[in-house]
Amino acid sequence: MTPSLSTPNTSAWQLEPIEVDVAVLGAGQAGLAVAYYLRRAGLRAWTGYVLLDANPGPGGAWAHVWPSLRLFSPAEYSSLPGWPMPAPTGRGFPPAAHVVDYLTRYEDRYELPVHHEVRVTGVSRLDDDGDGRLLVQTTAGVWAARVVVSATGTWGRPFVPFYPGIDSFAGCQLHSAQYAGPQEFVGQRVVVVGGGNTGAQVLAELSEAARTTWVTARPPTFLPDDVDGRALFMAATARRQALDAGRPDPGGVASLGDVVMVPPVREARERGVLVARPMFSRLTRTGVEWSDCTAEEADVVLWCTGFRPDLAHLAPLGLRGAAGRIPTTGTRALAEPRLYLVGYGDWTGPGSATLIGVGRTARETVADLTARLEALPSAPRRLRQRPARSAEGVRHEGGLTSPR
Ligand code: FAD
Repeated sequence: MTPSLSTPNTSAWQLEPIEVDVAVLGAGQAGLAVAYYLRRAGLRAWTGYVLLDANPGPGGAWAHVWPSLRLFSPAEYSSLPGWPMPAPTGRGFPPAAHVVDYLTRYEDRYELPVHHEVRVTGVSRLDDDGDGRLLVQTTAGVWAARVVVSATGTWGRPFVPFYPGIDSFAGCQLHSAQYAGPQEFVGQRVVVVGGGNTGAQVLAELSEAARTTWVTARPPTFLPDDVDGRALFMAATARRQALDAGRPDPGGVASLGDVVMVPPVREARERGVLVARPMFSRLTRTGVEWSDCTAEEADVVLWCTGFRPDLAHLAPLGLRGAAGRIPTTGTRALAEPRLYLVGYGDWTGPGSATLIGVGRTARETVADLTARLEALPSAPRRLRQRPARSAEGVRHEGGLTSPR
């Protein structure tokens, strides 16, 4: 359903901004979930709402993760609103390629208006009119939107903490975002940094091909073997319910433990690999060194140290707050009511950086922004009447996997 960039409304030679009601920036799972609800609210594809995505194809970050990565939940706990993720063939939780396939088919199924290979370079105010439009500058022209939903994720901003000597290490340093599998590290000495799920899973796999050392900032905590991503989802749900009801914060998913014991990690534990050393104090030219003066030679330091919100395109709006985040109420930016942020982490909605968790945040976001659109005195295009919901839609949307 994606038109080519040579179609008149998206061509690089376009001079006038293309006007839309809603521009969704990013078409990973968060952008698609928002688009699902925009469609259901009756906005017209392409002219009412559009998604702009830098990737050449569907799948968001899932198209870039290392090939052996599997979800830490079964398919039925990994669904976006409307259409449950089909079960994968074979045993085990769905692999990353299955998620890419699901997101590809999701995009097609709902005929979502995604322009791929269009990078947003900046979002700015057209004028001082609070009811006016935001300008979305991209590599393929300019859009002028009444509302912008930023759903650009974190994959584009890998985080590496600073340690003394980081520039003098003569070996190879890479972030987990660049990790493509163990084959290129056979026989090498690899220091894996990071005590989260990525660190544990990469360590488990690499330790079969390389000589690994695991280093974590604090001792890693492991979930019980019989607890998987379903428990994380339930914890996120319980937290949201407690906060909504004004009860004390029971803590997010972090309170359960850091590492889900997926089969490769369990197997690594049986091999005695899951033993972490504390964080080193500096890098040397040939390896890493701890504060007690012990040292280890290394060929590779692999940083599994997470990501930060990828928000550089919003810099012209001048909204940045503490920790690189933009202060929000719900998902709406406090200082710019035409801007919403979806999917970046618990700060934009409990569990909103997970497949199943983002649906509820997306639904609430669309309810809020459509109310805003309806109230605009200048809105030239009213939301058209809601389409009748198909029997299929009713069936799926009432199910467990659809966080309504
Ligand atoms: P993304 O998937 O990153 O999508 C953002 C999109 O925005 C991308 O397509 C990108 O190209 C586009 N974009 C970025 N910048 C721009 C720009 N300037 N202009 C235009 N487009 C732009 N979640 C689970 O539910 N279950 C799991 O088992 C699970 N495992 C995970 C394992 C790993 C290793 C990681 C890193 C995450 C995991 N997650 C899991 C978390 C979560 O599902 C992902 O982080 C998810 O990809 C976030 O979706 P998103 O749509 O917010 O961002």
